Amino acid sequence: MNVANKEAQLSVRQLGHYIGGAPAEPTSGRFKDVFNPATGKVSGSVALASVEEVDAAVKAAKAAFAAWSETAPLKRARILFKFKELLNQHHDELAMLITREHGKVFTDAQGEVVRGIEVVEFACGIPNLLKTDFTDQIGGGIDNWNLRQPLGVVAGITPFNFPVMVPMWMFPVALACGNTFVLKPSERDPSASLRIAELLKEAGLPDGVFNVVNGDKVAVDALIEHPDVAALSFVGSTPIAEYIHTEASKHGKRVQALGGAKNHLVVMPDADLDQAVDALIGAAYGSAGERCMAISVAVAVGNVADRLIDKLVPRVKALVIKNGERLDAEMGPLVTAEHKAKVAGYIASGEAEGARLIVDGRAHPVAAEEGFFIGGTLFDNVGTQMKIYKEEIFGPVLAVVRVPDFASAVELINAHEFGNGVSLFTSDGGVARAFGRQIQVGMVGINVPIPVPMAWHSFGGWKRSLFGDHHAYGEEGVRFYTRYKSIMQRWPDSIAKGAEFTMPVAR
Ligand code: NAD
Repeated sequence: MNVANKEAQLSVRQLGHYIGGAPAEPTSGRFKDVFNPATGKVSGSVALASVEEVDAAVKAAKAAFAAWSETAPLKRARILFKFKELLNQHHDELAMLITREHGKVFTDAQGEVVRGIEVVEFACGIPNLLKTDFTDQIGGGIDNWNLRQPLGVVAGITPFNFPVMVPMWMFPVALACGNTFVLKPSERDPSASLRIAELLKEAGLPDGVFNVVNGDKVAVDALIEHPDVAALSFVGSTPIAEYIHTEASKHGKRVQALGGAKNHLVVMPDADLDQAVDALIGAAYGSAGERCMAISVAVAVGNVADRLIDKLVPRVKALVIKNGERLDAEMGPLVTAEHKAKVAGYIASGEAEGARLIVDGRAHPVAAEEGFFIGGTLFDNVGTQMKIYKEEIFGPVLAVVRVPDFASAVELINAHEFGNGVSLFTSDGGVARAFGRQIQVGMVGINVPIPVPMAWHSFGGWKRSLFGDHHAYGEEGVRFYTRYKSIMQRWPDSIAKGAEFTMPVAR
């Protein structure tokens, strides 16, 4: 190694764990490089936890559970309120951490932080969310009601593509419900999670209630097998989601595992074509297509296809692709060199299988730069048997599939193995209504390209896009992170408390 390389290596940030309310020095001796995708340079070195380090995090969370679960929901909410204020103050700092490790453009990263904050705002309503039903006098002097109680130590395993928002789909609700949490973020962009742990501490969260272990499959398997982890939330690719659901279920855990996607946007002949094109450009190429709700297939119905292609081509060619820190960037790089090679491989396979490659992102000048850039890509005449139609590419590649009519569009989408998001562009209310009712997909947009539900609704797909019974956040999240109990009670006498002369308040 030459001197310059050695110096560069010494300047990279060491990213360890956060356990029991403090940074924890890594002990496994295993590390992985973290890159700035816009420069292609190593920016950090993330520790990969051992089984013992995962156990230390779970032990810290277990020790904190008794007091945290007994803390009044209103007090838990007050800490989350304070955390929300800190998130607002550190909003741009978190967004920049995202851009520098993920590569998405800064303005998009700012939006990601906001969508995370919204779940914190939702979780601040926990006293009301935990309110349950009460039946007076089910029989002589007997009442019946129910409780929603926390599960214990719960873990979250998250993907690279939303390093702030996806963890915040999980832990604000889990903590508000009285659980303690161990987060295993993606090893590709771990910095934001460690910063979040510091902000939670600053907000007054007791030590051990929220812990971060960085790592890979070793850490994930340790969480799956750990007897003191009651539940696992996972978001990532479908093969790993299925693995986690199967294995964690075998270990008796409650599991929600959100997987991959192939999202279609149907353009009807009566759609406002300019709106549909705007929607497709943003939803297919925003965040370089590295979104589980990205649109990767445009379904052109009837005679709309040629007009749609004519309008799409100049827009794809004109995408402003550069380092996401530059405020005029529309699209940044892909996350790693390996992922760029994978996306390029899909483009080659589409060409080889006979799809019409109209705009080739591999030929874009930006693809020759040092970062992990690739240009926007557009295919026409894509067949349903092709790999680029069947598999999730997770890159800036849009496939146009032509179908004769509305019924064929619905049939096509319903036959796909994924069912995360879908969108329909039309001006016909009857068609829109039929689409909403017939389509076998978890999140549906009508003239909305990326229908990510707001924090007080819930997020989740159907089919092989979600394994488990609960969607994420919103009231589904509260159900996932609590256990239902019914209590029936009869009292022979009531006990007098004596007089109180001051206004009762929650302290
Ligand atoms: P990934 O499946 O590679 O990784 C997700 C997590 O699993 C990471 O924390 C990673 O460390 C861990 N992991 C990776 N390999 C593992 C293994 N063999 N065993 C155990 N754990 C392992 O996913 P990614 O590339 O980080 O994220 C992109 C994927 O996530 C895409 O498929 C995307 O659609 C999906 N995603 C889905 C949603 C959703 O809500 N459905 C949201 C965001 C991302």
